[in-house]
Amino acid sequence: MVTETILVGNGTLITLGEKNRVIKNGAVLIEGNIIKDLGKTDELKSKNPGSEFIDASGKAVMPGLICAHHHLYSTFARGMAIPGEPAKNFVEILEKLWWKLDNALTKEDIYYSSLIPLIECVRNGTTTIIDHHESQSYQKGSLDEIARAVEEVGIRASLCLGTSDRYERGKEGLEENERFLSLLSSRPSQLVKGMVGLHATFTVNDNTLDKSVWLAKKSGVGIHVHCAEDRADEGENLKKYNMRVVERLNSHGALGEKSIAVHCVHVNEKEINILKATGTNVVHNPESNMNNAVGCADVLGMMGKGIEVGLGTDGMSSDMLSQMRCAYLIHRHEKKDPQVAFLEAPTMLLNNNPKIVKRVTGWRVGEIAKGALADIILIDYLPPTSLNENNFLGHLIFGLVDATVDTTICDGKILMRDKKLVGLDEKFIAQKASQLASELWKRL
Ligand SMILES: [Zn+2]
Repeated sequence: MVTETILVGNGTLITLGEKNRVIKNGAVLIEGNIIKDLGKTDELKSKNPGSEFIDASGKAVMPGLICAHHHLYSTFARGMAIPGEPAKNFVEILEKLWWKLDNALTKEDIYYSSLIPLIECVRNGTTTIIDHHESQSYQKGSLDEIARAVEEVGIRASLCLGTSDRYERGKEGLEENERFLSLLSSRPSQLVKGMVGLHATFTVNDNTLDKSVWLAKKSGVGIHVHCAEDRADEGENLKKYNMRVVERLNSHGALGEKSIAVHCVHVNEKEINILKATGTNVVHNPESNMNNAVGCADVLGMMGKGIEVGLGTDGMSSDMLSQMRCAYLIHRHEKKDPQVAFLEAPTMLLNNNPKIVKRVTGWRVGEIAKGALADIILIDYLPPTSLNENNFLGHLIFGLVDATVDTTICDGKILMRDKKLVGLDEKFIAQKASQLASELWKRL
């Protein structure tokens, strides 16, 4: 039996990875779910005459993008009216919006609210996400609903439930993480992996924290937790435990190369040194931090110390190129220095996110290289000035960021071609989501 192959050719191939190459009139050969070969189109075409050919003329061909922190469940907050005075601070944003929403989601809400941003991932060329789920109203079985949506849409996802003791349902959250991880180990999925989630240290007691760490170690995965997003997080930990957030996580063994500390806006020098010493991954979400007015994380300082800082959206969107541009702009603005962030913002997205995904899931993504997983996107882009390895970042930040994704391939399967989704009824899904959101808003 001959394995079917797809040849994407005639495009501007941007390989990324360690030896980033820009190959004009380049091609990439996909066999099954793996990248088999890359090079000049003519050469690959003559060697592989039987392949299905995708013409990438006028397009940049890049590895699929990665979101290192997402919240698929946040969809139904879009356009939702919040009664009373607008939230005055971060804790009020949680209490008036997010904790209300996540305490009202049904099984069906979780599935449909996941489908919408997953489709937006495909449309924006995001082929891998690390999601952090919360649904206090429906915890047991919630990760199955998200996994079902992920597999139907066809991108990759690492899933977890953010366990929290805020309504004394920490035990149930922990059990859901454990059930889902054990399901994945008995029935592995090509597209779905798991982590152990915690909401944040200020809503988690020591018992839940210890049990989560025990579960993570037993399952060979890391902890995915919001960390010092707002001053209130540090304040609560100092008041109750006489420790700062990172110190407390470390004292319970929650940090390490497979763990993700999200945000780290208010960590101090000592905490940064702990993150570095434990090899913990940090994920920066600049749009969300600006939206919640919590401050600007010193991620450039952390990167300078050698901490792996990746980039996420925190559920704000599924568009990683615009998030990267936001990271570029916020640090220039914050530091009032036009020499910073030109390298660091793309590094978070293009270098560090693939490293974090490799640590957390084992997937080799984020590069067009022989043997890597076949996650590839085609973006409409005719370079108006010369484009090569040395000036690629200028094209990325000022051009590609606003270009349209035309084709998305994940795990060797075409999920979108000529801007049309393959095998999904987008209109039906949006109508169903809208109907469920209206019912949820009424319940609130
Ligand atoms: Zn988050």
